Amino acid sequence: MTDEHDHDHRHELYPMLSVEDALDHVLSAFGPLEPERIPILQTLGRVLAEDVYAELNIPPHANSAMDGYAVIAADAVDAGPEAPVRLRVIENLAAGYVAQQEVAPGTAIRIMTGAPIPQGADAVIRFERTADAGQEGAWVDLYYAPPVGNNIRYAGEDVRKGDLILGKGTRIRPQEVGMLASLGCSEVSVIRRPRVAILATGDELVDVDEPLGPGKIRNSNGYSNVAQVLKYGGVPIMLGIARDKVNDLTDKIRSGLTQGADLLLTSGGVSVGDFDVVKKVLVGEGEITFWRVRMKPGKPLAFGKIAAEVNGVTRTVPVLGMPGNPVSVMVSFEIFARPAILTMLGLEDTEKPMVEAVLEDEIPSKDERRHYVRVRIDRREDGYHASLTGAQGSGILTSMVKANAFAVIPEDWTHAPAGSRVKAMFFD
Ligand code: AMP
Ligand code: MG
Repeated sequence: MTDEHDHDHRHELYPMLSVEDALDHVLSAFGPLEPERIPILQTLGRVLAEDVYAELNIPPHANSAMDGYAVIAADAVDAGPEAPVRLRVIENLAAGYVAQQEVAPGTAIRIMTGAPIPQGADAVIRFERTADAGQEGAWVDLYYAPPVGNNIRYAGEDVRKGDLILGKGTRIRPQEVGMLASLGCSEVSVIRRPRVAILATGDELVDVDEPLGPGKIRNSNGYSNVAQVLKYGGVPIMLGIARDKVNDLTDKIRSGLTQGADLLLTSGGVSVGDFDVVKKVLVGEGEITFWRVRMKPGKPLAFGKIAAEVNGVTRTVPVLGMPGNPVSVMVSFEIFARPAILTMLGLEDTEKPMVEAVLEDEIPSKDERRHYVRVRIDRREDGYHASLTGAQGSGILTSMVKANAFAVIPEDWTHAPAGSRVKAMFFD
């Protein structure tokens, strides 16, 4: 194993960075990816890559906001609760149809919500303010004097033809999908999803459906990482498990590059163990930007890039070498991979919103790193309260399963007693 032994653990080569500095390095390696044109039903969560202008008015025609009677307001000026005015009903108009007759003085058209306002009419009186002879009735009594425009939705009152409706950079939510549909856009240009390759490393790992031989454990990181990629809008490429050998790791990383990865994530093999070869491969095939971040869990994080020839073209792809412990890797993903993915998706603000919460339990063994503590946050009358969900060892996935947030304990706190006010980031 001599060739596995000689790689460089000299810490002075890689000063430990603050979370902010490390994040700056990571984010400077990413920008928005190219646009693609796709059907609007596939655009939820994506970022618009073009300005969308209205090519028509919405609504396209003046229409009724109520079920009632379309009238000439001047006909009903004398109407009141005690003094009905009677008009002759000449037509019954449903939404989706155009009146065949004009409303002339002394007449009304029965009209349903959304139906176009007939020629001649300038107000709609809703049914509740009328009495009539029923659906086939020939007359209606009005008990209300409507102002001109009453219950009329005018053409273009929502969207005006020619206006900029959705700007480039808008993140598409359900209401934007609805707006695009009402504008008649069936496809739109959005930033494509990043492809994120995921590689677990370790001689001890077996896949989920393989028998657990002596000394082995199952690869959970690969799975939680794929789920995280999906959660934040990336396309995962699962590369499986690499053994702790330079050759195997290099081959699997190359295969991620040939499959078009925009970001490569590894887990394990970045600490100071005898068989931690991820840094060695990064140095050999690319470069390391930094190693080690002042956080807990997640300290042994390596970031760099790796180059490989794909179809005769050299591609250089950022690599985030995350720690192996199942909680460390998830924290590292949240803090570094998530904003990288969102940046590639075209989002500018990638910060996760924080809430303030009161700690219910003391945080044990606080050191000079920023601690991300697994908590369950409950909302009470006086605000949010955060309780530890169990043992905080970086391999304890059960306390992650029970948690709904990380409480963030700053670097400069020497201890974090119960009752302290802390910032917390909800998972969802
Ligand atoms: P390492 O940094 O490679 O020494 O890994 C740290 C710890 O995480 C070790 O106990 C590993 O067995 C464990 N580990 C590494 N990779 C995985 C994985 N994919 N799934 C579950 N545990 C892992
Ligand atoms: Mg390992």
